[in-house]
Amino acid sequence: MTLAAEQPRVAAWLGRLAAIGADPPGITRHAFDDRENAAHALAIEDAERLGLEVTRDAAANLYLTWPGQDRAAPRVMLGSHFDSVRHGGNFDGAAGVLAALAAVSALRAAGFAPRADITIAAFRCEEAVWFGLGLIGSRAALGILPPDALDRRRADTGMTLAEHIARCGGDPSAIAPGRRLLPEGPIRCFLEAHIEQAPSLLEAGLPLAICTGIPGNIRHAAIRIVGEDAHVGLPRRFRRDAALAGAELFAALDALWAAEDAAGRAMALTVGRFHTDTAKHELTVVAGDFTLSLDLRAYDAAHLAALEQRLHGIVSDVAARRGVTIDLGPRNAAPVGPCDATLQRELAEAAARLGIATMPLGSPASHDAANFAAAGIPTGLLLIRNAHGSHNPHEAMDTPDLMAAASVFSEWLRVEA
Ligand SMILES: [Zn+2]
Repeated sequence: MTLAAEQPRVAAWLGRLAAIGADPPGITRHAFDDRENAAHALAIEDAERLGLEVTRDAAANLYLTWPGQDRAAPRVMLGSHFDSVRHGGNFDGAAGVLAALAAVSALRAAGFAPRADITIAAFRCEEAVWFGLGLIGSRAALGILPPDALDRRRADTGMTLAEHIARCGGDPSAIAPGRRLLPEGPIRCFLEAHIEQAPSLLEAGLPLAICTGIPGNIRHAAIRIVGEDAHVGLPRRFRRDAALAGAELFAALDALWAAEDAAGRAMALTVGRFHTDTAKHELTVVAGDFTLSLDLRAYDAAHLAALEQRLHGIVSDVAARRGVTIDLGPRNAAPVGPCDATLQRELAEAAARLGIATMPLGSPASHDAANFAAAGIPTGLLLIRNAHGSHNPHEAMDTPDLMAAASVFSEWLRVEA
């Protein structure tokens, strides 16, 4: 079943979502804030049109459920998120919720009656920019939110995560390690559609990829290097230059990545912050203080653990060579999310039946789906062609490509649900 009839409604939805988040030069939908709430209200409006049950959990995540004929049967879950980074694009996250709603809308219009419940989730606060920790809503829903997360404060509001959740109608006191907030009953699988954050599909000329795995990551938001502030005339042998140590650390990590790439072991690393101390850096002062961030990601848990060991080795080497101390600071981690092999095959077959060409592809980024995979729930992820990457105002997904993802979901649900 293709979803041509759904496309005008989906296009109108994307326009309303863009208006909600309009924040030139891009889109900002703050997590746990009025704009994310407005996006949730749009989803609820569509759910009411479709006669879906609307529920929320203690983390203020939203669930839209199409009741099945056997309500005790393991439910199929689909979903993604509505929050964005500041001045981001319109499609990161939102595309996944819209694809799931369009699939359900088409199946209802065709008179389909699912055997088990189908639940569409809109998880809160997927982006790590708001509280320095990503995938917050899905972590809370699965009972794996780090215990200290509720006390984290957001820089712009000064409010804690717990206060933000309560403000959106949630109940932070009910969020605890090991306590699932998801709708009651067993879950058969979790499916997500998400724009690709790299140009692989653009390069291949294909609308969709069947994701083979979601990388886990290890993050250090503030690595501090301390050497010694010194006069610009100090001879080289006396220097303990923290900026040069930072540069050497970054270059050594890049060399590690190049070697892994050459060996065919997929990974990525990003140094997003890289700076001297702005309060005291000067043209004529050797920098004694340096700060950088590091995101290290890979698709295999053992590979990621080995990379972290290599990181520690490189840090020790650079510190010794440059006469500085390097403190990695707080560590956050997200688990590797392997995509279920059966779901990969079924999604590829569903696409093939519709004449939609796909290819297998590792996800460049972490997604809510990774938490489901790490929790042992069979997980499938469709990546949608998208130009100009994401987390910037220039995301450019074509609506027909989103409809291709929705069509694959509806075809999979028609056969499997
Ligand atoms: Zn996203």
